[in-house]
Amino acid sequence: PAAAGRPAGSKAMVPGVRHIIAIASGKGGVGKSTTATNLALAFTTLGLRVGLLDADIYGPSQPRLMGLSGRPESRDGKTLEPKVSFGVKVMSMGFIVEEDTPMIWRGPMVMSAITQLLREVNWGELDILVCDLPPGTGDAQLTMAQSVPLAGAVIVSTPQDIALLDAKKGLNMFRKVDVPVLGLIENMSYFSCPNCGHRSEIFAHGGARREAEKAGVEFLGEIPLDIQIRETSDAGKPIVASEPTSAHALAYGEIAAKI
Ligand code: ADP
Repeated sequence: PAAAGRPAGSKAMVPGVRHIIAIASGKGGVGKSTTATNLALAFTTLGLRVGLLDADIYGPSQPRLMGLSGRPESRDGKTLEPKVSFGVKVMSMGFIVEEDTPMIWRGPMVMSAITQLLREVNWGELDILVCDLPPGTGDAQLTMAQSVPLAGAVIVSTPQDIALLDAKKGLNMFRKVDVPVLGLIENMSYFSCPNCGHRSEIFAHGGARREAEKAGVEFLGEIPLDIQIRETSDAGKPIVASEPTSAHALAYGEIAAKI
């Protein structure tokens, strides 16, 4: 991927991890986690060694998406072992707290939790660590931006105006903290009826491409609203892993190759 070779800056690297990218969104529910999972899997199909850090500590969804559960082990009493699903090493706050327990945390606790998930996990040798950030522009995003050298951030948005407005805020935040924005992805870009083939633009269409052009960042691609993407995610077998030759899996692959 083109993210390779970007300067690391002065922030401390995570040992063994070559590149860290953040998957971000301005608001919740736009498919950021689904995109992070499928991109992580798509990177493995490019032959990369991949980790997936669920930094969405208020609403961790990676355990479910990757079909994982249970507490992480520690071999040395200091670092946690990531769990492995479809060849991707995964760490999430969701492994540590019960699924229905709310995280009622203030900023400093959020920051220390993310730092621990980054640095006190035995990631081993990784080419790329994909971080699924919480939505918005808060403490988690700043911690990521300021404590590790991020190769860049990818922003996921639906084509809806309200989502794009928030995506733009996210984009500007990363620019302010000198994190390169690697591009925008339009999720839920359109819906094709499986029965009659009619295409509906449920949340409008093309807005993310326009925003990317306006902001001078790359438009990475569009992913339709599709029942198979939702069902495979809910079943813990994301589409890139379970249906690798499907058009949607290939679309994620094309996006991953551009990053
Ligand atoms: P976020 O991380 O932005 O909150 P999620 O990835 O959790 O969003 O997605 C929200 C919901 O939308 C989930 O139920 C997910 O399965 C579904 N979803 C996300 N992207 C798609 C898509 N392209 N097609 C169908 N359902 C999707």
